[in-house]
Parts: sequence; structure tokens; C-alpha cells
Amino acid sequence: MELAIGIDLGTTNSAIAYIDNHGKPMVIRNDIGESITPSVLCFKNDELLVGEEAKEMQALGMYPVAAFFKRLMGDESFIFHANGCDYSAIQLSTFLLKKIKGDAEAALGQKITQAVITVPAYFKDPERNATIAAGKAAGIDVMQVINEPTAAAVAYGLHNSENKQHILVYDLGGGTFDVSLLEYESDTTRVKNSVGNHRLGGKDWDDRIIEYLASQFQDEFGLDPLEDSESMAELLIQAEEAKKKLTTVERAKISISHDGEKGRYTLGRTTFEELTADLMELTIALSLRVLDDINMTPQDVDGVLLVGGSTRMPMVHRFIKEKFGHTPMRGVNVDEAVALGAALVAAQRINENKPKPMFSLGGRAKTVDVTNHSLGMIAVNQDQTAYTNSIILPKNAEIPCQDIRPYQHRTRSRGNNELEIFMTQGESELPEDISYLGRYVVRDIPHQKNGITVIDIGYHYDESGTVQVKVTDSQSQKKLDVTIEVLPTNIADRFMGSPELQNEEPEHVTAYLAFDLSGSMSGTPLHEAKKAALNFLKNTDLSHCSIGIIAFSDRVKTKLAASQNAKTIQVAINDLTVCETGVCNGAHPFDEIYSLLNDVDGRRFGIVLADGSWSNQPRAVTQAKKCHSSDIDIISIGFGSADQQFLKDIASSDEDSFFTSMEGLVETFSTIAQVLTETGGIRPASKNKKRGFISMLNGR
Ligand code: ADP
Ligand code: MG
Repeated sequence: MELAIGIDLGTTNSAIAYIDNHGKPMVIRNDIGESITPSVLCFKNDELLVGEEAKEMQALGMYPVAAFFKRLMGDESFIFHANGCDYSAIQLSTFLLKKIKGDAEAALGQKITQAVITVPAYFKDPERNATIAAGKAAGIDVMQVINEPTAAAVAYGLHNSENKQHILVYDLGGGTFDVSLLEYESDTTRVKNSVGNHRLGGKDWDDRIIEYLASQFQDEFGLDPLEDSESMAELLIQAEEAKKKLTTVERAKISISHDGEKGRYTLGRTTFEELTADLMELTIALSLRVLDDINMTPQDVDGVLLVGGSTRMPMVHRFIKEKFGHTPMRGVNVDEAVALGAALVAAQRINENKPKPMFSLGGRAKTVDVTNHSLGMIAVNQDQTAYTNSIILPKNAEIPCQDIRPYQHRTRSRGNNELEIFMTQGESELPEDISYLGRYVVRDIPHQKNGITVIDIGYHYDESGTVQVKVTDSQSQKKLDVTIEVLPTNIADRFMGSPELQNEEPEHVTAYLAFDLSGSMSGTPLHEAKKAALNFLKNTDLSHCSIGIIAFSDRVKTKLAASQNAKTIQVAINDLTVCETGVCNGAHPFDEIYSLLNDVDGRRFGIVLADGSWSNQPRAVTQAKKCHSSDIDIISIGFGSADQQFLKDIASSDEDSFFTSMEGLVETFSTIAQVLTETGGIRPASKNKKRGFISMLNGR
């Protein structure tokens, strides 16, 4: 039978629980019979000590000891050095998980393969993923990571109320503080809001005792015991012991040995509470904020639930009673609640996949968490003047949740159209006020004729509080591949200024290619001219360019009205036949070009290929000039016996006139195509920019 296992992977202490044969959640004791295992590792030469033994070693200060590494989960820059090796927070957590898993397997006589692991509610995506990775590395399939307050509430089984109830969960552990507001209604538990500080915990209370005693010692002997690592390590243990004593008695005795001197001190509870009153106030301020965020007041709270070893301190009870008017609930061991709740959730998960329930649960049928931070992405604002944080999943949405928003993305018809999505976390619209969670790259974005592809970007927040990014081409509803890539450092700097003007609308280009089809073009000349025209077509970006074909000699004929269809243009080029408009050059194409282009928007070009000279060149020049004055650019290309001065006269400028050999035609045409693409259509600002940026869609 599959075991329903819950693990509280704590900053200070960890615990593991399971659901016994009677459906009751039970904490599994470790190899020394304790219900909690210190989250401490000691690298003693070749031996790795985990838990109580490691904590004892910490006091001796002889070997490298790793503690509080949960605070560094998800921080890739953190490295713990011990005996010539480097360890990440994930690796340290893996050692710890292996130990508690091993002890539990020995106690139960059964292998553990899967579990629900808890994390502080304010853990972000990287920390949650790091927790899942540590589980995996320890041989545990992490069914779900759930928020610690949620797990605690499940353990309390606060489910017998018909009416809607609001419970404040105040979790003060050894290294983290986490406060959440839960709402109960019929069969559902909701985490309405959650805030925390993962640099605040019982350890800070210990530190206050240490500072106080060290200064007493200094006053007495003129020596600082904190300078010496051994005295310091000893003081650390003594301070924590004293703190725990003060929970039950009014006074605790502490002695400090340092540099041959021994100081004996007594610490009273009142002094201790005075030394730490600001820390206590800090937790109360955060507790009020959790309510204020969702427009609630202490009067709206129906009960307060305490979790974490530090909530044993009498000052916590007193402050809660004072500020919230409630005596905290009792019933579940504050050290065990989180692991027990996690085991109950594991059982829920296992039952979900079974046709019949295997366990009868005291817990609730459904537990719903909320997102603690808004998740969004960087986009360009509507007037394209600034980058903005565009929120996709708002704070306090119930998880699992997902949402999709459409964004415009500019693409080009050629090349790889890429998009970078920078996932953000935070409420502000300002890129400098938020944090960046990841960089996702989408390649091969389909190109639309108008150069704008609407992309639907979806964030899916799963039950473990990790996020997946899904990208779809809105028009075809095709899913696009998303790859996760390294997030550059100082990423916020990139979005401080104004966006580059790459989003400027490319101007449409209409170009007519006019071919001299007089008798002199027969054979190789026409063959080369067609080759050149086909090459021109290949080099033109048809997303913003239309091409038409004109034949002329004694008469003028529009073979193709400007088109953006490559196939049609190709057919028209291949269809050009010598003498189809007569044998000699009695006519010119400029009247035709003028009438075809005069009313067309955007940039307009007539590209005229000439061989030999024309019967009425002055008239042709006059009509060409009419085109120039209407901003229709004439580009002339001549070869063979073409009149070079005439070519210059009909062209809009000397640079627009080309005289080449037959073999040079292909190259000349492709140069023109390139110039059209670069200067006519797409503005230079976007020329070098392969990756476009994404803009917000109007009104959304
Ligand atoms: P975490 O969630 O950070 O792993 P725990 O919930 O296990 O931590 O709480 C550990 C903290 O609780 C430690 O700082 C420890 O000193 C403190 N603690 C445990 N028992 C007591 C007590 N009786 N009085 C005061 N503090 C206590
Ligand atoms: Mg805890």
C-alpha cells in the first residue's frame, strides 16, 4: 500500500509524518526517538553527520557545519565549502531529506518513494523548484509542495464549522516567520493572503541574548567572547537553551568561558522580553499587514493558530491576545502540525487517484492556496515610450490557477522571429521595482502579412506554486515551444530607459518592374533579365512589399497588377515574351507607371530595364519627371547598347541609375531589392534587430 508521507523541511528542524492504518496522521520518530530532527549537517572529515549529532558538533566548532541553508534555497550563488568540496543549498537539503527518509523507512519497515513537502508560503518559484529538486535527488517523488500554514491548518482539522470562518496562522520557527489568513467555508480551506520574512525567527531571539551576554562579559573582563569561534559556538547553544527555559521559568542561568575567564549571568524573562520586543512587534506588524492587504481588521479574525517552536514563548501568546483579542488555539503540537498536515494532504492526493477512498480523513476535503505575489512579464506600453510590468496572474489568486493575455509581437517574413519573455514578480508597473524570475524564449513565431502576430501568453500556477509558461499563436491556436534560458544579471537595467523604436510601422512598398521586350532582348538577354527578376523577388520582403510587372516596347502592357503573392509574381515573370508588345521601342512605360502608382499609399517605385535606345526619349524623360515630382521613384537599369545619359535622365537620381553587363543584371537587381527592403520598407531602427519586443494589446 502506498504510504501517505508529509515532510516539514524546516529551517531549524524537520519532521516527517504518515497516515497510519487507522487513518490517523502520526509523526515518525527518528533514530534517536525524537519527533523533530535538527536541519543541521556536520562535515566531520569523511563522515557526514546529520541532525542532532551535527547540532552537538556545532557547539564544539571543530568541523564545518551547515545550518539555516533553507534560507538560501533557490539562491544559485550560494555555495557551502567543506573539506575541499562545494555544496549548493539543494545538495545540503538532499542530505537532510535522505537522513529523515532513511530514519522513517527504518521505523516503518517500508520504502518511501513519494511525499508532500512543505515550504513557507512566500517561497517563490526558484525556492519551490529547488525544494522539488532536493526531494528528487533524495529519491522522493514530490507529489506536491504545499504552504506550511495550509498544512498546519489541515492538521488542526478546522472543518466543523458551517459558517465562513477566518483563521490567522502565525508561524514563528527558528529562521522564518510566516503569517497567513485562511478562510473556511463548507468543504474548502482558502489561504486568502500570506506574508512573511524568511530572515526572522527564533535565531534572532537567540542572537539578542548572545549580544546582551557578550556585552556583559566585555564590561566585566574587557574581552569579547564573540571573537573566538569556540566561545561563540558555546554561547550560541547556551543562549538557545536559556531562551527555551524562559518559556517555562522566570529566570535562566548562563555561564560564559572565554580566554581563561568565566562569567556567570542570570537572565530574567522580563529583560529577555525587553531585549526582543522590537522583533515581536515586527511579527505583529506583518500579521496586521496580512489582514490590511485584503481589507480586513483583527475584529474580522475568528481565531489564531500558532505554529513553529518559537510560538511557545509566552510573549507570543500575550501579544496575540493583546492585538487580536483571541487566545490562540491549542491541540496540535506546534512542532508537528506542519508535517501532520502535509501527510493528510498526501493522503488526499493519493485518494484522488483511487476509485475508492482509502483513508478516512479528519482533514478537509479541499485545500486551496493563493498566489502571494503577482506574476507578470515585461512589455512595451501602448504609446511605446516605456517598458512596463504587465501582470498576468494577480496576487491572491487561488492556486492552481492560470491566465492568458494576448500581446502583439512584430515579426518579419524572413529570418527567425524570436520573443523573450521576462517573468516578473511584484505589484509595481515599474521594471525597477519588481523581481525577475526567469527568461523564456520562443523561437519561430509565425509571421502574418501585416507584420503583427498576436501571441497568447499563459501562466499556469500549479498546486506546488511553481509556474509554467505556455505560448500560443492566437490566430492558428498553435502551441509554440518555450525554452527556459539563463536570466542575465542586472536585467532590470535593460528596462530602465525607453524601448528602441523597433516597433515603428514599416511603410508599404509598391514596385513595378517594367521590362523592355523589344526584339533586341531575344535569347540570352531576356533569359538573364528573367533570372534577375526572379532573384529580385526572392530578395524582397513581401510582407510589406507588392510587386507588379509591366512589359513595353511599341506598346505598354501591365502583365500583373502589384501583388504580394510570390507565386503569381513568379508566373508573370516567367511569362514575359520578346516582342509581345511589338518589335521596336516606340513606347515608354512612365504613363503606365504613373497611373498605376499615383493613388497608392506608401513608397512607390518604377524599376525600368532598358536595352538599346527608344524612339521618343525626350517624351519619356518628361513623363519620367512627372513620376519623380509625384514621389514615384524611378530606378533605371540598362545594359547592352542602352544610352547611359538617357538612363540617368529617367532615373530619380544618379544613384538610381545603373548600367551593367548582361551578367551583372542579377546582382544589380538584388542590390535594388536589398535597398528597397532596408530603406523603403522597414526602417533602419529595426534592421539589425532580430528580436522584436512585445507590446500590450489595446485596452487590456
Ligand atoms: P523551523 O520551522 O524554522 O524549522 P521550528 O518550528 O522547529 O523551526 O522552531 C525552531 C525554533 O523554535 C528554534 O529557534 C527554537 O529555539 C525555538 N523553540 C523550540 N522550543 C522552544 C521553547 N520551548 N521556547 C522558545 N523557543 C523554542
Ligand atoms: Mg517550521
